[in-house]
Amino acid sequence: MQKVKYIMNPSMLSRLVMVLAIVLSLVAIFTVVLTRGVSRNGPTGPTECKTVIVVASGDTLGKILIDQGLNNSDVNAIADALKKNAGISTLRADNDKIEFTRPDETSPVSKIVLIPSPWKQVELTCSENGGWNCNTVEIERDTHAVYKSGEIKNGDSFYLAGIRAGIPAGILIDVFDLLAFEMDFERDVRAGQHFSVLYEENFSGGEKVENGHVLAVQFEALRGNVKMYRFKKSDGTTGYYDENGNGAIKSLKRTPINNAKVTSNFSSGRKHPVLGFTRAHKGVDFRAATGTPIPAAGAGRVVARGFNRGHGNYVKIRHNGTFETLYAHMSKFAKGVNVGTTVRQGQTIGYAGSTGLSTGPHLHYEIIKNGTHVNPLTVKLPAINNLGDADKKKFLEYRKSLDNGIEKLSQNPDWFIQM
Ligand SMILES: [Zn+2]
Repeated sequence: MQKVKYIMNPSMLSRLVMVLAIVLSLVAIFTVVLTRGVSRNGPTGPTECKTVIVVASGDTLGKILIDQGLNNSDVNAIADALKKNAGISTLRADNDKIEFTRPDETSPVSKIVLIPSPWKQVELTCSENGGWNCNTVEIERDTHAVYKSGEIKNGDSFYLAGIRAGIPAGILIDVFDLLAFEMDFERDVRAGQHFSVLYEENFSGGEKVENGHVLAVQFEALRGNVKMYRFKKSDGTTGYYDENGNGAIKSLKRTPINNAKVTSNFSSGRKHPVLGFTRAHKGVDFRAATGTPIPAAGAGRVVARGFNRGHGNYVKIRHNGTFETLYAHMSKFAKGVNVGTTVRQGQTIGYAGSTGLSTGPHLHYEIIKNGTHVNPLTVKLPAINNLGDADKKKFLEYRKSLDNGIEKLSQNPDWFIQM
């Protein structure tokens, strides 16, 4: 396999998508659609007039309603009805749409439809006594599972190969996030690797509205074929699991050595025990006898292994585009752990000691998030979600049937699974 050039990294991708999103929402903010004539919803009349507003940043319900000619008592009644009957108390900018209907151009608003998602509409109608009635309508959705597969070609990034395979950019971002703890997209992508994604497309009235969730993903990574499946547990929560039903979203361990006592916490300023003056403690110290094996806090690649005056013998691991961890004061390194070595979670990378600026044997452990040191004990990490016995049994059956479906789709790329 040949090493390929990395053209677009995930952070560049997300920045690009963000710029696109901003541009699109700017367009949306200034878009006020006026539709005349026959309407799809509610009573229709030849001169009925509709106005659709996309909620913009800084908009309030009151401001929007007053702009449409409603008065303060309408605003209060509508806000009450939305809160009481639809559980809506705030509007979401660049997402929520509000449709105003007037019997004709010069009449006051008689009907308001709030559209918080493509699958839900909240209809407010003006009653004869001047109050507002509120009714929530669920829009039926038709979900297809579609399958796309591709291969990394020489000179490719995963992003380019994914787009060439016809995978939508939004789905590719979800796949990046899913696989981020399994592989390093900047370094572990090679020509000849195959990948596939099964994902949802949601339709309403025969028209595609949006892409849904990633249902299954497969990638021939350097450390083996990675497979993940989305599965709903009996308690209603969903998660991603590997072929065997183990929680697939790998995380970092806050305390790499199990049950190790914290002897010094993370702080932005403390008196250093050896140097004597106050300086930040960028990690957490755990009590550990000399020679205690130090496990990698998560899967990743060793990016540094060396000695410096402060850290003594230390190892740094890059886990994904976001997280790195560092382990200091080691008495020695584990055999075979060098710069560039790929390690799995729990693999011994070295042994505790007291090298560098240290008063006694311990592990000094750092988590670096996007280049900044964070407190390992409090930083928000992706959750690991394992299955109980009953759910695991169900998962394995579900996985088998999904694999059968995927097998058929891989031979018939135009087919889809009706969900
Ligand atoms: Zn320390």
